[in-house]
Amino acid sequence: MFEPNLFGDVDADHQLQGATGGDPLFASWHRPLIVAWGMGVNSTAMLIGMAERGIRPDLILTADTGGEKPETYAFVRTFRLWLADVDFPELIVVRRKPYPPDSNAVGATTLEEYCLATGALPSIAYGHPSCSDQWKRRPQEALVAQWPDAVACWERGEKVCKAIGYDAGESERAQRQAAKDNPRYHFWYPLIGWGWGREECVRTIEAAGLPVPPKSACFYCPSSTKAEVLALHRDHPCLFARAVAMEHTAAGYNQNVKGLGRRFSWEGLVSLPLLEQAGLADPPAAPCMCQDDPD
Ligand code: SF4
Repeated sequence: MFEPNLFGDVDADHQLQGATGGDPLFASWHRPLIVAWGMGVNSTAMLIGMAERGIRPDLILTADTGGEKPETYAFVRTFRLWLADVDFPELIVVRRKPYPPDSNAVGATTLEEYCLATGALPSIAYGHPSCSDQWKRRPQEALVAQWPDAVACWERGEKVCKAIGYDAGESERAQRQAAKDNPRYHFWYPLIGWGWGREECVRTIEAAGLPVPPKSACFYCPSSTKAEVLALHRDHPCLFARAVAMEHTAAGYNQNVKGLGRRFSWEGLVSLPLLEQAGLADPPAAPCMCQDDPD
């Protein structure tokens, strides 16, 4: 049963195991090795590739906003079993700390609860990626900051290695990231080193006998395409109704956006005739850190 924990449990007696590093691209100083698993295709294939090469991560973690679609949560359950099969560390799921009593979102433990409590949409609707930062990056950083292997590594003046699932088609993204000097992390991009693009990642997952995971994102994500919004309405009417409730709560505060689609509301989109739906443009692209981004 998938039960997200707040900051997960880190084994204080954690030992490196099976760290053979059979990949010629894998350097022995890539330790301790963390995989921030994004629940999607790339980082799943990356972990399979590591298992094939005898590279065992020391920590595998992911962040849950509480708003993933049921298909993603089902895949998390399946993937946990695969991780156990290959003797990889158990997946640690982190969540943002509940909002404190003196905040306007007291007790909120999910991004959806926060939005409903404050009358806001996820910040990406306003062009800022801080929802990803607050609900994904920071909880993971908080856990790593308490992880004994990382603390010991930093005390030695070394960097923790974080494997990032950018694929071979995203080398520019990796170069941009690598150009920033991070005092705590060395970023490693195995998919690029292995020359794996999206298709190789999908093939690798299928060859491992796993289902190909759906795109991981909050069901109310304002970066959703029009087709994704319509699919949510068709396949998950209850989740769609919750997203519309978020739009209603935020309606009185919105000045520059019309709803979760920014230039349109999701509720309005589905009530349009098909021809008019087709004529609407997708929401404008916004920087989203939810796709296997390290920081
Ligand atoms: S998936 Fe979308 S709404 Fe959820 S945290 Fe990421 S950018 Fe924000």
